[in-house]
Amino acid sequence: MSFFKVNENCNGCLACVQNCPASALNYFDQEDSRKILHNMSLCARCGHCWRVCPQDAIEFKALITGRFDLVTTLDLVHCKVCGEPVYTANLGNTVSNSTQQTVEPLCPDHKGSEPVNIWKKLASKRASQ
Ligand code: SF4
Ligand code: SF4
Repeated sequence: MSFFKVNENCNGCLACVQNCPASALNYFDQEDSRKILHNMSLCARCGHCWRVCPQDAIEFKALITGRFDLVTTLDLVHCKVCGEPVYTANLGNTVSNSTQQTVEPLCPDHKGSEPVNIWKKLASKRASQ
C-alpha cells in the first residue's frame, strides 16, 4: 500500500528524491530500470516533492486525502435471536479455545455479548500479570 503516487509523466529526474527534506524518497538503479521508493513513516506530507517536480507527475492529493484503507475482513457471528452482529467468528474461536467453553451467539439485549465480556476479562487478567 502506498499513498505516494506518480503518474506516467515521471521521467525519473530525481528532483523529488534530492529535495525531500525528510529523506522519505529514495531510488535505486538496477540493470535497465530506475526504481523510486517512498517511505510513508518518514514522509511529513509537506508537499515539497510535488512543488519541485518539473513534470507535474506527483499525485500529491493521494498523500493528503484522509482515507481509510481496508486492513482486514473478518466473518461476523450474529445474535441467534435478533440477527444483530455480536462478535467476529475469530473472537468466538479465541474465547472458546482459551476457556474451553462454547459461546452462545447472543447480543447484549439477549444475554450480553458473552465472548466480548469473557475476552475483556481475560485481557484485563493478562494485563495485570
Ligand atoms: S521529480 Fe517528478 S519527474 Fe522527477 S523523479 Fe520525481 S516524480 Fe519523477
Ligand atoms: S511530501 Fe515532503 S516529506 Fe513526503 S515525500 Fe514529499 S517532500 Fe518528502
